[in-house]
Amino acid sequence: MNPLDNDIKYVSGVGEVRAKLLAKEIGVHTMRDMLYHFPFRYIDRTKIYNIGELNEANTSGGYIQIRGRVTGKNYFGEGRNQRFVIYITDQTGKAELIWFRGIKWIENKFELGREYLIFGRPSFYRSELSLVHPEVEPIEVALSRKESCGMQGIYSTTEKLSAALGTKGMYTIIGKILDNCKGKIVDYMPHYLRERYGLIPLEQALENIHRPQSAMALKQAQYRLKFDELFGIQLNIQSLRAARTTARAGFHFGRVGKFFNDFYNNRLPFPLTGAQKSVIKDIRADTVSGCQMNRLLQGDVGSGKTIVALISMILAVDNGFQACMMAPTEILARQHYATITKMVGDIGLRIAVLTGTTKAKERREILAALAAGEVDILIGTHALIEDRVQFAALGFVVIDEQHRFGVEQRARLWAKNNNPPHILVMTATPIPRTLAMTLYGDLDVSTINELPPGRKPIKTVHYYESARLRLFGFMREQIAQGRQIYIVYPLIKESEKADYANLEQGFEAIVRDFPLPKYRVSACHGKMKPEDKEESMRQFKCGEADILVATSVIEVGVDVPNATVMVIESAERFGLAQLHQLRGRVGRGGNQSYCILMSDEKLSKESRTRLEAMCETTNGFELAELDLKLRGAGDINGTQQSGEIIDLKIANLAEDNQIVQIAQQAAVALLTVDKNLSLPEHQPLQQLKARYSKREEIDFSVIS
Ligand code: ADP
Ligand code: MG
Repeated sequence: MNPLDNDIKYVSGVGEVRAKLLAKEIGVHTMRDMLYHFPFRYIDRTKIYNIGELNEANTSGGYIQIRGRVTGKNYFGEGRNQRFVIYITDQTGKAELIWFRGIKWIENKFELGREYLIFGRPSFYRSELSLVHPEVEPIEVALSRKESCGMQGIYSTTEKLSAALGTKGMYTIIGKILDNCKGKIVDYMPHYLRERYGLIPLEQALENIHRPQSAMALKQAQYRLKFDELFGIQLNIQSLRAARTTARAGFHFGRVGKFFNDFYNNRLPFPLTGAQKSVIKDIRADTVSGCQMNRLLQGDVGSGKTIVALISMILAVDNGFQACMMAPTEILARQHYATITKMVGDIGLRIAVLTGTTKAKERREILAALAAGEVDILIGTHALIEDRVQFAALGFVVIDEQHRFGVEQRARLWAKNNNPPHILVMTATPIPRTLAMTLYGDLDVSTINELPPGRKPIKTVHYYESARLRLFGFMREQIAQGRQIYIVYPLIKESEKADYANLEQGFEAIVRDFPLPKYRVSACHGKMKPEDKEESMRQFKCGEADILVATSVIEVGVDVPNATVMVIESAERFGLAQLHQLRGRVGRGGNQSYCILMSDEKLSKESRTRLEAMCETTNGFELAELDLKLRGAGDINGTQQSGEIIDLKIANLAEDNQIVQIAQQAAVALLTVDKNLSLPEHQPLQQLKARYSKREEIDFSVIS
C-alpha cells in the first residue's frame, strides 16, 4: 500500500479528534490529502533582521524575524485584561514581546539571558518595536531546524480548525509526514514524461512545496504540481472527447433539402456575416462526420447566434429529425419563438413553444404532437428536459445562454432518442481560453468574432451620482429622437429586500421625473408575475414604453433594436461580464447607442478598474480576460455560482496559460499512443486521472 493512503490520524500528534476536525473542516482524510493542502503563501525565514533597522515603513504588513536575548519580564493588568511582556535586546536595539492569552504556558518557556529566534508581525508604538503573540524558539533549536533557513508555508485554515491546529501545527504535521515518507513516495509520472516536460520528481516537489530552501526550488515544485493538476484534468477531458468522437455514433445530416433551400433562398432576412457562415460550415461538417456533435458557440451579444441555431435546426428537419431549442427564461423562449416563426414564415415548418406557463390542455396537445413527430422545432425553457417530454426523433438540440448545463442534463437529452442528438451550446459570455480548455475541453468551440455590418460601437461613459441631472437631460434628448432606454438595477440576490427598495425608489423617481403623457415607463423584475413581466416586455418591444426599468433579468437575449441607451445603476455592484452583457442590449440597430454607468462617488480600486475597462473597450474577450485576472478563477468558480466546478488547488487559470496548453497537448499525445493508460509505464497515471474525474457539472455561468 502507498504510505500516503494512510489515515491522517496515525500521524503522531494528530489523533482521532484532530483527524475528525481536519476531515470536516478542510476535507483532509489521508496523509496524501494533507500533503496536497498547499501553502497559499510563504514567509521568507532566511532573513534575520537587526532590531534597530526596523521601522513602520520598512515592515508594513509583513512578518519579520529577529534574534534577541531576554533581559526581563513583566505582568500588567488583572484577570482577563492581563498582559505578559518579555523584553529582549540585540546589539542594535530592544523590543517587547506581548501575550494576552496562554500566559501561564508561555512564561515558563523563557530563561533570562538566553537568546531566542522570534518570528511575528511587528507593530510600533512611539517607534518602539513590539510583537504580539510571536513564535519563539531558543536560537540553537531554531537554527537546527530546516524551515528556519528556508521559506515557511502559511496554510489556509478555518476558524474551528485554527483553534486546534494553526498554520504552525499544520506545518509540523506535514513535516512529519514528509519525514516519514522519505524515499517512499511513488511517482506516477514515468521518467520519460518528466524528462520531456521538465518536471522534478513528485517527492521532491511535495517536499519543496512545503519546505522550499530557495525561491528556485519552490518554483520547480509549483511547476510540477500545477502541471500534474492540469494534466490530470486534461486526461479526463481528452479521453471523454476521444470516446465521443470514436465510440458514439452521431446522426448523419447528409441532405440539404427543401426547407433549407426555401429558407436560405427566400426567407433569409439579411446576408450572413462571414463568421456566421463559417460556424454553419463547422456544424455542417460535424453533422456528417458520423460522430455526435458537442459544440460550444461563443459569440458576443448581438453577434447573431440565433440565425445560426435556426439554420442548423432546419438542416436537422430536412434530414427527418426534430430539433429543440432551450432558453434560460420564459421571456427569452417566447422571444425566440416569435423571432423564429416570423423569420421562417410560411415555408411549412411546424414550430411550437413550451414553457412552465403553458396551459395544461395546450401542453398535452404539444406533447402528443411531439411524440407523433408532428412538431419539427420545439422552443422552450428547462421544461424541455423533463422526462415526459418525448420526441419522435430528436436529432438536434440548441441550448441558448444556458447558465447551468451539466453532463447530467446533457445525458437526459441523450436519453430522448436511441442515439444522442447533436448538441449546440450557445453563449454570449466569452470564456478566456484557459478556462474554456479546462472547463469545456470536451466541447469543440466555434467563435463568432464579427458583428453584423452597420453597427456603431457603443459609447460608454461613467457618471457619478452628482451627474444625474445631466443623465436625465440626455435621456430626454434620446426619447425626443424616438429612441428607447433601459435602466437596470442590481439585484444580486433575488430575495434581497434592499435591492428591491432601490429598484422601487428608482422607478418612482423616474416616473416622477418623466411624467405621462409624454413619457411612458414600464418595469420588469423577478417579483412580478410572469404575465406582468411579459406584458412590460411586450410594451417596451413594440415601442409602447420609452423607458424600461428592470433588474438584470433583461441581461440575456432581449432584442429591441430601437433601444439606444443602457443606464446601469450602481454599476460598481455588477461584475464585468454582467456589465458587458447588459451593454449588449443596446447597439442593435443602426443608431448610435450609449451605455451609462452610474456609480457611487466612493469606489474600491477594483470597481474603478472594472468601470474604466468598460469605458475603454467593447471587446468581450478582453473584458473576460481582465475579469479572470481581477477575480481569479477560484472566485469565478466559487461556491456561490457554480458549486466548485473546478477545484484547482494550485494552478491558476489567470496566470498559468502556458501550463494549461502544455498539459493539454501532453494529454492528447499520451492518449494517442495509449488511450486507456494500460501500458505498464502509464498505469500509475490512472491514479492521477481518477483524482480529477469527479467534475460532473459543466457550468456556463462562469463569468456572468
Ligand atoms: P445574439 O448572438 O446575441 O443571440 P441575435 O441572434 O439576437 O444575437 O442577433 C442580434 C441582432 O442582429 C438581431 O436583431 C438579428 O436579427 C441581427 N442580425 C443577426 N445576424 C445579422 C446579419 N448577418 N446581418 C444583419 N443583422 C443581423
Ligand atoms: Mg441570443
